[in-house]
Amino acid sequence: MAALHSGRWAISGAYAGEPCFERRFARAFAEFNGVAFCTPTTSGTASLTIALLALDVGPGDEVLVPGLTWVACASAVLAVGAVPVLVDVSDETLAMSPTAARAAISSRTRAIMLVHPFCTLGDLDAFTTLSRERRLPLIEDCSQAHGAAWRGRRVGTFGSIGCFSMQQSKVLTSGEGGALLTNDPQLHDRIEQLRSDGRRFVTPPRRGRLELAEVGKVQGRNLCLSEFQAAVLLGRLASLDAENALRADRARVLESLLAQVAGVRPLARPSMVTTPTYYNFVLRIDIDAFGGNSIDAIARAVSEELGTLAHPVYRPMNEHPLYQPLLAPRGDYSELERARRDKERFVLPASKEARRTCMTLTHPVLLDDPSGMQDIAVALDKVRAAATELHRLSQGSTREAF
Ligand SMILES: *Cc1c(COP(=O)(O)O)cnc(C)c1O
Repeated sequence: MAALHSGRWAISGAYAGEPCFERRFARAFAEFNGVAFCTPTTSGTASLTIALLALDVGPGDEVLVPGLTWVACASAVLAVGAVPVLVDVSDETLAMSPTAARAAISSRTRAIMLVHPFCTLGDLDAFTTLSRERRLPLIEDCSQAHGAAWRGRRVGTFGSIGCFSMQQSKVLTSGEGGALLTNDPQLHDRIEQLRSDGRRFVTPPRRGRLELAEVGKVQGRNLCLSEFQAAVLLGRLASLDAENALRADRARVLESLLAQVAGVRPLARPSMVTTPTYYNFVLRIDIDAFGGNSIDAIARAVSEELGTLAHPVYRPMNEHPLYQPLLAPRGDYSELERARRDKERFVLPASKEARRTCMTLTHPVLLDDPSGMQDIAVALDKVRAAATELHRLSQGSTREAF
């Protein structure tokens, strides 16, 4: 309501005598993460795109992207004219494998995009070492890990830039939204201008005047978060740690109950993850113990039992229907450029195996009472016990599955 009545609905509005919500959220989120700078943006995709542009990644360059993640990671790379190099995941954590990443580096590699997926983190020890050794900037995509910590330090602060999405499904959300973190003042200045048509905040601002000054040191565009969204994020941030802790508590309850259920295991989490967060809870299913049914059929049955959606994990990026690198941006690449983008050239066995055997429960489930965790364990056991009957139902892949 304060945003509504302030008369200022965007950062590109006149300064009204006190910091706008976007600046307040930026400061609060930087402090929350223990980092010098935060720039809010319109989406996670915008944040990744701006990160790549800020690091001067463009045509001719390659960026390492995990083979098992949301399509935006790869499409942001395509959007700046660079080539996504799909790297397989570690079968333990489902995050990008450091060994596979090292092997995928070429003379054209310009950045590593490490996603912290589901309910665990990428190996930040290995990736910060790799980044330093090969002088390749590390972009952390923390869209599924707001507030998580590795060895006591928040994610998004280990690499050159940390990126976040605040889209509807995330644990910190304003419907649509995003943010970038960095400790580097020069990168920060580029990021600020890249998202506001080449403008940056003036200090001190003057009442009744625009707070953005025209700098024009980069070619920017408008990817600014609105005041309404920033106000929502500022309010929601105050509960993030408590909600993450509640979900982590429920996850512990669920993990101990699952020890009693045959054929189901939670994902392993490295001990370096000192504050785990749960975008979703990954269940590894022993397909044989579930009668050889497909993960899609098992997930559908569990969804029916629980009255909430359980999903298989993403399809490997090179099998994902939304990943169409040869259709972007105009599909008139040279033969060589087509070959570099051809998704058939990537081999992602661990990503494929994850899609065959893993399913997820979404984070709102983990805010339920402990008895809800019991219901999940019971539902899984029931579906396993009914595996033979399940054979009669469709084994096909769910249309809207990730
Ligand atoms: C949600 C998500 C994105 C995309 O964010 P949008 O805000 O939808 O653009 C990117 N990366 C990961 C890992 C995500 O989960």
